[in-house]
Amino acid sequence: MIATKAYAAYDPTTPLTPFDFDRRDVGAHDVQVEILYCGVCHSDLHQARDEWGGSIYPMVPGHEIVGKVIKVGGHVKKFKEGDLAGVGVMVDSCRVCKHCEQSLEQYCVEGMTGTYNTMERDGKTIAQGGYSTQIVVDERYVFSISPKLDLKAVAPLLCAGITTYSPLRYLKVSKGTKVAVAGLGGLGHMGVKFAASFGAEVTMLSTSPGKEADARKLGAHNFLLTTDAAQLKQYKGYFDVILNTVAANHSYETYLKLLGLNGTMIVVGIPPKASEVPAGKLLDNRRSILGSMIGGMDETQEMLDYCAEHNIVADIELIKMQDINEAYERMLKNDVKYRFVIDLASLK
Ligand code: NAP
Ligand code: ZN
Ligand code: ZN
Repeated sequence: MIATKAYAAYDPTTPLTPFDFDRRDVGAHDVQVEILYCGVCHSDLHQARDEWGGSIYPMVPGHEIVGKVIKVGGHVKKFKEGDLAGVGVMVDSCRVCKHCEQSLEQYCVEGMTGTYNTMERDGKTIAQGGYSTQIVVDERYVFSISPKLDLKAVAPLLCAGITTYSPLRYLKVSKGTKVAVAGLGGLGHMGVKFAASFGAEVTMLSTSPGKEADARKLGAHNFLLTTDAAQLKQYKGYFDVILNTVAANHSYETYLKLLGLNGTMIVVGIPPKASEVPAGKLLDNRRSILGSMIGGMDETQEMLDYCAEHNIVADIELIKMQDINEAYERMLKNDVKYRFVIDLASLK
């Protein structure tokens, strides 16, 4: 077993504190990654505080992992010692179902194995995430990372990046598509970057007036303050696609009204409470709502390669592991520019 240092949540209400545990030994198909940086996703907070129900403790959150390969198993083909590597939101799946076969492992018929807050496929080990010094993962679920980009700013691509890239690609967002991105946080700022990079006309939908200048710097062409009724009215029926990244409970209706004919609202934000959807707001303009969960292994590697080619990374604030609880509080105040990333050197 491999001794590992981490920070864990022990229950829904107390702050995260240091936690030591063992990772499995490196198997024939495994890669051992020394974690250098790990992004802080709002899903970490939702799960650490059991906002979705069913949380498993002790919980080491973190699924935006980048680092260096320090050991590989005898049958590993893709990686060698010293390579850069990434691990995202899943570390395993059944590998043989019709969805896994299409590299849509996130929709595995048996359920994907998350990076943390779940049992590994052996049924007895709690999967533990990236707020830790190292991780051991089957190479099938490990990504190659280009040395061209700033590694700490690459980490958020593993969740915030792929979660916004995948549905925008699925809907073939391109030149001329009118895209709105709701919520300028970790996911939202990546959504703006990708939509702009695909050639769309991008509008930021935000509750924070102070974020307008940043939204424009990230690539938004317009800024709509969603707390201002007059601005909402002005954009009624305007958009083809809304990427809804909002993490807190909110009304879907506010956003649905902004969609034009055949418009689609992509739901990626997972607020703790269910949202009501008035049927009339779907019937009008033949609108639809599309859910989307991260992206498959192949598409995530495609996204990482696209980012390396187009020089796209996250805008980050580097923190120490010891600052995680304060970072969570700031995230709840929408005070993140635009992703916290933990420097794991602070834990060694
Ligand atoms: P985040 O960094 O905290 O950003 C969320 C943003 O939502 C905030 O910055 C804020 O932007 C906006 N917001 C907050 N409260 C709001 C309210 N009451 N009404 C309207 N807007 C509000 O969170 P994140 O890490 O980007 O994650 C966003 C959500 O996506 C979370 O629920 C997370 O669990 C989920 N998620 C889903 C997937 C998936 O596979 N589908 C993957 C990762 C994360 P403004 O200040 O601009 O209003
Ligand atoms: Zn995430
Ligand atoms: Zn499967």
